[in-house]
Amino acid sequence: MPLNRKIAYIDLTTGDIETKPIPLEARKKFLGGRGLDAYLLYNHTKMGCDPLGPDNTLIISGGILTATCASATARTHVMAKSPLTGLLGSANMGGFFAPELAWAGFHHLVIKGKAKHPVYLYVHNGNIEIRDARGIWGQSATDSQWAIREDLSDQEVKSCVCGPAGENLVRFANVMTGIKNSGGRTGMGCVMGSKNLKAVAARGTMDIKIARPAEALEYNKRFIDQIVSAKVNQTQGVLGTPFIWGATNSWGGVRSRNFQYNQCEYADDIEPERIDEICEETMGPYHMTGCFGCQVHCRAQYKITEGPYAGRYDEGPEYTSQGAFGGETDTPRATTVLTGNHLVNQFGMDNLETGSLISWAMELYELGIITAKETDGLDLR
Ligand code: SF4
Repeated sequence: MPLNRKIAYIDLTTGDIETKPIPLEARKKFLGGRGLDAYLLYNHTKMGCDPLGPDNTLIISGGILTATCASATARTHVMAKSPLTGLLGSANMGGFFAPELAWAGFHHLVIKGKAKHPVYLYVHNGNIEIRDARGIWGQSATDSQWAIREDLSDQEVKSCVCGPAGENLVRFANVMTGIKNSGGRTGMGCVMGSKNLKAVAARGTMDIKIARPAEALEYNKRFIDQIVSAKVNQTQGVLGTPFIWGATNSWGGVRSRNFQYNQCEYADDIEPERIDEICEETMGPYHMTGCFGCQVHCRAQYKITEGPYAGRYDEGPEYTSQGAFGGETDTPRATTVLTGNHLVNQFGMDNLETGSLISWAMELYELGIITAKETDGLDLR
């Protein structure tokens, strides 16, 4: 088991970086990932601190089995005091970042303070460097990841970033990695932005030692057999998570028109099979992909087929984007869902918060509480 991965304590105000082993006692009590993050947050955050102030602590981590042969351990976890709720902020995302962080020698990064100007952290085989991100600030979540690879002249670097939403302190900004992997809810991207921290980049080639590799592989094989034989995972591997929204909408379990209705009618164009058709038309038959070491491969790939963003590539949509930009707003058109999904991914913004706010504004407009004067002429009916 990779018990030699470390915690790094990084102070962006002073530039001090300290690395420490993870105490075995803490491991036994909290394992890793979210559990150990909560312990670290509790011990390293001042009571009553401003979530957007330098005293808030942002923690980025992988789980105890991340980067081993264990299945479904791709997730990166992010924790801080939430600027959205003032309570515990916790978000996690798929992709490839957490394994790279573990190969670079770390399981937990504990980040405090605020940098004088935009920076990013580069974690590389036991070392951590604070680098200038002024040239990357302002770029979309996707473009900033490409820019970091260029800056480091290494196309294998994996980054988690805040997009323009986090930079501008949108309270529901996400941390993003890859095209659409989103650490959403509770505004962890906003905390990154408040620290002038554009990104954390990782690249590692350090071995992970497994005490009994043959037994670990055998145990994992049994686990994988369970995963791939479950109908729910087989369906996700074909249709992604949109099948969840489709099924839930069929029995009236979704929210629509700002919670006025519990079903979105005439939703054929955003049913999972229709979205799958568009993915196949634009990306070919093998359009499903997945995160590190995951057998479910629930992530669809697509290109937008019409409108001002026609031809743009993206991934998903998850059932949450389907609900946010099709169901909640009662605009059940595939192009609307796929475009909305693309834009929140680029801005690094939570899809459900965004869809809920739009549907709320639409109802306010219908009721005459806001008018074209407040929307700069946009007709929200
Ligand atoms: S491929 Fe899907 S199920 Fe697997 S880790 Fe990624 S998001 Fe989760």
